[in-house]
Amino acid sequence: MKVIILGSGSYSGTPKPLCTCENCTRARINPAFRRTRFSVYIEGGILIDPGPDLHYHLEKLNKEVETILITHAHFDHIFGLPDAQVFKKLTIASNPLGIKVARSLAMLAFNSEAPLGNDWDYVELKFWNEYKVNGVKVIHFPVVHSIEMAGGFLIERKNKTVAITGDTGPEIIRDSEVIDLIKGSDLLISEMTHKESIPKTHLGVNDAIELAKIVKAEQTVFAHISHSNYPQEILEKKVREAKISGIVARDFTIIEI
Ligand SMILES: [Zn+2]
Ligand SMILES: [Zn+2]
Ligand SMILES: [Zn+2]
Repeated sequence: MKVIILGSGSYSGTPKPLCTCENCTRARINPAFRRTRFSVYIEGGILIDPGPDLHYHLEKLNKEVETILITHAHFDHIFGLPDAQVFKKLTIASNPLGIKVARSLAMLAFNSEAPLGNDWDYVELKFWNEYKVNGVKVIHFPVVHSIEMAGGFLIERKNKTVAITGDTGPEIIRDSEVIDLIKGSDLLISEMTHKESIPKTHLGVNDAIELAKIVKAEQTVFAHISHSNYPQEILEKKVREAKISGIVARDFTIIEI
């Protein structure tokens, strides 16, 4: 089963307009270093986090989406939702705040909760409950982040499990309930926003690697990487030296699980 990291970047993307840091400068010269905002596609029509680059992602992906899961309502994870208008039948699932913002975005864009003639269904997820969304098992678990409600997902399809941290502070490492849930997943997609962790906000490089060591997934992919983080090859070296089965995402990295 294929999983595609559509966007590997954080809220400002790389290059960030007007920024002259090393990563932004390199990304202007070599598109392989560009990072659009975080989003993931899982084979079978599942898209996680319809960020502001959704149109660009969908244009390249060119596949049907029937389920959209939203980790939290920050703009870099949800503000592309109206671009999902190409999908006539869609289930949008998130925590109550995510659903509230999703509905508001649709209202602003379409003056209705769905584009005219589309059948969009909103599903409010309770943390820790197990759901079947279009035949796929989904558990939304809470994380600590700089918004009142944020979560990650454990998604099971065709006997393969994908755990996605969403944006999370380093508190996740000591959250035994979350660790027990996602431990041993086939794929862990962990955020690795900054060089150093910011409590209750984002993971730094060492803490993201620490999380991967604890979760012991078959494979780990690090994403949601800020322009202010280390360059790609330095991050790759750090992951390699940690001796974990992990890779550092670029945009459109494809993983087979
Ligand atoms: Zn984010
Ligand atoms: Zn920069
Ligand atoms: Zn966020």
